[in-house]
Amino acid sequence: MQFIETRGNDGVKANRVSFSEAILSPSASFGGIYVPEFLPTFDTEFLTKHVGSHYKTLALDVLQGFDIDIDEATLTEALSRYDAFDDPANPVPLSKIEEDCFVSELYHGPTRAFKDMALQPFGYLLAKEAQKRNENYLIMAATSGDTGPATLETFKNQDNIKVACLYPNGGTSDVQRLQMVTEEAENLKVIGVHGNFDDTQNMLKELLASEDFKAELESRNIKLSAANSVNFGRIIFQTIYHIHSYLELVRKNEITLGEKVYLVVPSGNFGNALGGFYAKEAGLPVERILISSNVNNILTDWIESGEYDLTTRELIKTESPAMDILKSSNIERILFHKFGAERTKELMDDLANNNKFSMTEAEKEAIQADFSATYSQDDECEAYIAKYASQGYIMDPHTATCMKSYEKDTPKDLKTIIYSTAEWTKFSPTVARALGQADITEDTEALEWIKNNTNVTVPSMIDGLFTKEVKHTVIVEKEGIKGEMLVFL
Ligand SMILES: *Cc1c(COP(=O)(O)O)cnc(C)c1O
Repeated sequence: MQFIETRGNDGVKANRVSFSEAILSPSASFGGIYVPEFLPTFDTEFLTKHVGSHYKTLALDVLQGFDIDIDEATLTEALSRYDAFDDPANPVPLSKIEEDCFVSELYHGPTRAFKDMALQPFGYLLAKEAQKRNENYLIMAATSGDTGPATLETFKNQDNIKVACLYPNGGTSDVQRLQMVTEEAENLKVIGVHGNFDDTQNMLKELLASEDFKAELESRNIKLSAANSVNFGRIIFQTIYHIHSYLELVRKNEITLGEKVYLVVPSGNFGNALGGFYAKEAGLPVERILISSNVNNILTDWIESGEYDLTTRELIKTESPAMDILKSSNIERILFHKFGAERTKELMDDLANNNKFSMTEAEKEAIQADFSATYSQDDECEAYIAKYASQGYIMDPHTATCMKSYEKDTPKDLKTIIYSTAEWTKFSPTVARALGQADITEDTEALEWIKNNTNVTVPSMIDGLFTKEVKHTVIVEKEGIKGEMLVFL
């Protein structure tokens, strides 16, 4: 299969590229991104075939359904990254928390956030492709907490790839910062920045746009790539677990094959939700995808009103920071799928020029045919965390936003799958506060209190962070980034 461009073709770039080309150079004409030319079919026959399949067997068949230009041995090797998850036989377990509500736990990988689900196998594929072509790539990421650790972890010690990760000093949790600054590998660079996440992102954008930095990269024969969810190489791995979670319900005799379900997705850049949408379009029996957000509820407004309006918004810091996002990059792929390239370009141009776009009534209805949305305040999330903790289930604040969608947006006629995107250990002070320990502010103290007062344990990769040697101590002002990068390169 070939991949095409969401905003049409500019006559300079190729108008169709292979999967490997799309993952190495993820930006398309006019600032667009790549999408599959068509979707494979994952219908009842496909599902029936995989009722008894191991995660990796299902995954291989899904990947091959997209007919991508990566051979089976390489795909199998990439998928073997799931062997390092807590339970290699089932990297994505499903927990029942209500008669009709189940949590699909996407966080059992090395960095305890769902980013590992895609970044682990994707990192292997990207590095292999770079090596095969004898090309060198630099991946730069600005992180508010979860993307950084997962990106560093997947690329560490991979030949032909260098990763530089910028984080706002003081803007991440202790666990998230330690996950980055204790990573030891020659090809990794971690830089703390004086400023908040927005400043960090802007500094990265400025650096990537600067001509002398581009010239430096060129003189060193290094190309730029990206590992965020504009890269289709991440999205392809995010269709798999939606199908897997559905089959888990079948295996547990909670549904019969063919019965519809609701999916609830805590959303930021919409990669996770897009994976669910592609699975639904390909034939997975999904009634509706419920998008949950925090008070940065631009997705709620978009789905309810048809307007995507940044003009009146400023980013608000919340207890679910991975969803503190206003420009959600993957809705572009939904717009393309529903309305085509010409209209997508029109809407995205409006957003770039006027900081907003408005869909027609008919377009809004087309979005609402698949999605509904709601959002939670921090205190509502804390109340859900406390409620489920009292029933023996500890969830993180991102997952907690889903409980409002479950309560408010499902008529309880069908089973619901909630996606849990982080382990509680990454946001332990918030969980402790929800459980009545408002005076605990340090991660170490929160982890200890929760471990001692509930039924959960702290995994070794989190526990061990606090005694690991710190390898990256650089914290710079904006002006210092370029110099640090040149030393690294
Ligand atoms: C990245 C992330 C999200 C948002 O996922 P998207 O695919 O960007 O919508 C939600 N929760 C957590 C914990 C995350 O790390």
